[in-house]
Amino acid sequence: MARLEDRRAGLLEEIPGWYDGRLHLLGVTFAALGAIALLGRWLAETPPRPWQWSLVPVTILFANLFEWWVHRGPMHRRTRLLGALYERHARTHHVAFTRERMGAACHREWALVLFPPWVLPLLLLLIAPLAIALWFVDPASAWLFVASALLYYVVYEWLHLAHHLPEDSWPGRRWIVRTLRRPHRLHHDPSWMTRGNFNVSFPFADLVLRTALGEFPPTEQGAAETDPACDPCEAISRSREALRETYDEE
Ligand SMILES: [Zn+2]
Ligand SMILES: [Zn+2]
Repeated sequence: MARLEDRRAGLLEEIPGWYDGRLHLLGVTFAALGAIALLGRWLAETPPRPWQWSLVPVTILFANLFEWWVHRGPMHRRTRLLGALYERHARTHHVAFTRERMGAACHREWALVLFPPWVLPLLLLLIAPLAIALWFVDPASAWLFVASALLYYVVYEWLHLAHHLPEDSWPGRRWIVRTLRRPHRLHHDPSWMTRGNFNVSFPFADLVLRTALGEFPPTEQGAAETDPACDPCEAISRSREALRETYDEE
């Protein structure tokens, strides 16, 4: 466990002295909302018809499934192409925040929660081919698609950060945050993290794809274990054991 604590301290030391989590969050938010506002101006010139607006919920559902896939896949399983995602998530975010310690102590720790700023342009690059293809068919649909994806990204960042704020903070006490934080906290248990609750925002894909875990998963023998919430000491020792296995072997 000492090594886990050392690694956590090492991660915090790696955050540059000039880093400010509040500026990080505001920068990403204003960049995304600014782009949405720009798209909105183009949309105002040719107001979308009702059927075109239907692309907004469709994009949001698709984004939710994509979030689930990326989190369940490359974020928790090392792949050659997307190894950086695994390092950033499984070996950084999950080391910094565990089931027992979900809240960031200060805004500098937000660096271990929020995506690096370059992820936003990368996302735009990823969705560009589909957006361009849509634009040739129907420009308004293309703008709505990009705007919905950007909106989802911002909501994801704010919600994930809210999950990792102290529980007694103002955002941490809101009903929506308390409700959505619960499955994410369970996901932060080392023995759960590859099994379920892969949606960080809304658990749509987890529910549809049956990975929404509401109780402790069965043991290898098939017998259900006691909900660790009933026995915090047992939960802590089990988590530490699993963390040691997962992270202490290099
Ligand atoms: Zn998290
Ligand atoms: Zn995870």
